[in-house]
Amino acid sequence: MTRCFRWFALGILTAAALGAPGVGSTASAQEFLNGIEWKEPAVVRPGENGGPPSDAVVLFDGKDLSAWEGSTQWKVVEGAMVSGKGDLRTKAAFGDCQLHIEWAAPTPATGNGQGRGNSGVFLMNTYEIQVLDSFENKTYFDGQAGAIYKQTPPAVNATRPPGTWNVYDIIWTAPRFAADGSLKSPAYITALHNGVLILNHFALKGDTPFNRPPQYKAHPDRLPIRLQDHGNPMRFRNIWIRETPPVEGKQVREPFLRDGKGVETPVK
Ligand code: MG
Repeated sequence: MTRCFRWFALGILTAAALGAPGVGSTASAQEFLNGIEWKEPAVVRPGENGGPPSDAVVLFDGKDLSAWEGSTQWKVVEGAMVSGKGDLRTKAAFGDCQLHIEWAAPTPATGNGQGRGNSGVFLMNTYEIQVLDSFENKTYFDGQAGAIYKQTPPAVNATRPPGTWNVYDIIWTAPRFAADGSLKSPAYITALHNGVLILNHFALKGDTPFNRPPQYKAHPDRLPIRLQDHGNPMRFRNIWIRETPPVEGKQVREPFLRDGKGVETPVK
């Protein structure tokens, strides 16, 4: 290898390591461009240790229940909200969203099956992802913690013991309805339980009652989040939500290829 060639090779490698456009990809000088003009993604400061990112709406930060209504029997005790008689729901309404919520079942555990540490997170006031003390507590699988109630079990049971904190991170896509009230597209849910995937883009079959099959009934684009009172003193903390509008982009021209000399050709 001549000295000159060595320097040339080193230059190529350095440029590739730095990600210089057009140089690292010497094998192909051709670039694909999709012709879409994207809106610049907003800058969001991530939260620390499960805390809210900078663009989140904080629904409960350990201090008060000012974001909630529907029951006066829920209390704030030592930084957690404790369920009382009657369901609690957010004053604000939400559609597509990312929801973070932490919950703990009573300790020592009492009761069994559905009678032990039962609550529920109702997306859009209608669709329940089950909250239940499913730590060494068997019940019907499509009713255990992380189930979409009466529709599907969670993929796995990642429940922590009663008295310790469980975390749900939920990605929700609201159902869409046509003007005549018919269903255009179902609701979808993806959820992590304590960081473990339990629901992966599951398409809901409708609402989640105990006593009849699920069904869809047209409703507004945004509705409150509701927390269920099922007679057990459940604790909740660190609840925040982010609205998740679709990424915006405009197709300003057809997709094309550009070679190293700047010559453009349409994609066939
Ligand atoms: Mg429930």
